[in-house]
Amino acid sequence: MAISEINLRMAAVPIREVRLGSVTGFEGSAEELLCRSRCGLKDKTRSFSQCVGCATSKAACMVTLVQDGAVISHGPVGCSSCLHEFAFTYRVNSPLRGVEKPTQRKIYSTNLDEADTVYGGGQKLEKAIQEVFDRARPNVIFILTTCASAIIGDDVESVCDESEERLGIPVVNIPCEGFRSTVWTTGFDAGYHGIARKLIKPARKRSDNVINVINFWGSDIFSEWFAAFGAKPNYITPYSTVESLTWSSEAVASVQACPTLGSYLGAALEQEFGVPEIKTAPPYGIAQTDRWFRALGAILHKEQAAEDLIAEKKTKYLPKIAALREKLQGKTAYVTAGAAHGHALLSVLRELGMKVKGAAIFHHDPIYDNGNEENDLLTQGVKDYGDVPHFNVCNKQEFELVNTLNRLRPDILLARHGGMTLWGAKLGIPSLLIGDEHFGMGYEGLVRYGEEILEAINNDEFVKNLEKHAVNPYTKWWMSQTPTAFLGGGGR
Ligand code: SF4
Repeated sequence: MAISEINLRMAAVPIREVRLGSVTGFEGSAEELLCRSRCGLKDKTRSFSQCVGCATSKAACMVTLVQDGAVISHGPVGCSSCLHEFAFTYRVNSPLRGVEKPTQRKIYSTNLDEADTVYGGGQKLEKAIQEVFDRARPNVIFILTTCASAIIGDDVESVCDESEERLGIPVVNIPCEGFRSTVWTTGFDAGYHGIARKLIKPARKRSDNVINVINFWGSDIFSEWFAAFGAKPNYITPYSTVESLTWSSEAVASVQACPTLGSYLGAALEQEFGVPEIKTAPPYGIAQTDRWFRALGAILHKEQAAEDLIAEKKTKYLPKIAALREKLQGKTAYVTAGAAHGHALLSVLRELGMKVKGAAIFHHDPIYDNGNEENDLLTQGVKDYGDVPHFNVCNKQEFELVNTLNRLRPDILLARHGGMTLWGAKLGIPSLLIGDEHFGMGYEGLVRYGEEILEAINNDEFVKNLEKHAVNPYTKWWMSQTPTAFLGGGGR
């Protein structure tokens, strides 16, 4: 399928369903989804839906974590309620990345009210930008739009341009209002589009040892890995600065911890700034870790260093992985997570010898912005380990998850987002959420994850007790329906 090219002249990034053909509803197997989604699979709509994620929170997730930036949510104050979550994330995860004194987060809202929706919110935004500049003295101000500011048609781009000229720092318009897209991860693209448009500058010279790592807030495993190649990571965006983002254009290469997250920025850095992207999927599972280190070696012209590192790590970790496989053999699991990280967890589980009973993945991108199928962990996972049954694209619909878990009753539930593990626990299923997306990477990641899984399965007393006392909000009627009973039209 054709993917629209990166165009940094546009204020808003094209949404994922248009750009990549992304879908939010599907039931079947992983192989079926891969096959059908590359042949024009149409999205299915639900005749009943619980609340879904909003792009503004995903844009906030990336820009709130820039150390010397400030963020203004331009809308009713309720739209900024999710932003505190990232201030928390920023603070608690800073030790994982060696940031000793994380800066205080600078998060504001223009607090649009009814009168503003009649008379416009432009002046309020202009005033807010000035006040934030005076109070916080940030090196960049990001403006997140919301449904209200988009519906009333505020000219946010002009206000940003005028403020930028007056203040002498970048003021970045990030059009990410929730109703623009049914795929909430469009918000990541919106944040990155703003950064690529307004912060990243053409390279002055090309570095030979800095590699961009587009990631969430995972622990610093890349410093050790890259050191074997004489290189070091430049993490984007958590704990980055305006300076480090501006010159990310000078890196020798970019890698992604999660293609769902970094698809757009990886492609923008390559297409617009000449930074080559490693176009193989991230290193989850033994076969994929081999491929990833070899791709890294190839792009750095250090193939032998890659082979040496693979051999050294395999000698150390393969016996431990084999011992874990013996203990976990035959145990069953279910995964619920965002797309690429969910695919990563499926690879981890199957590499550890576990049987995956199914997955509820929040959305599906048939292809990423670089157009390379090898970038897709699900494709690689199906090739390496076979098909995954009961593979649903669930748009984070918890009523579908509870119904499915109740039927499949796996030995463990692996979840990525807070709030999802509770459903497994209430059903007496040990449930594990690990926020550090780098935790399962590489050969050593399989050992780390395997040990956590074993511990969760072996210590199930709490969830078994919880099951006896928990109240299930769903009716018997719903639990006797098929989980995707409300997933209706639009498909083929
Ligand atoms: S931007 Fe729209 S979808 Fe998002 S929180 Fe505000 S009103 Fe809700």
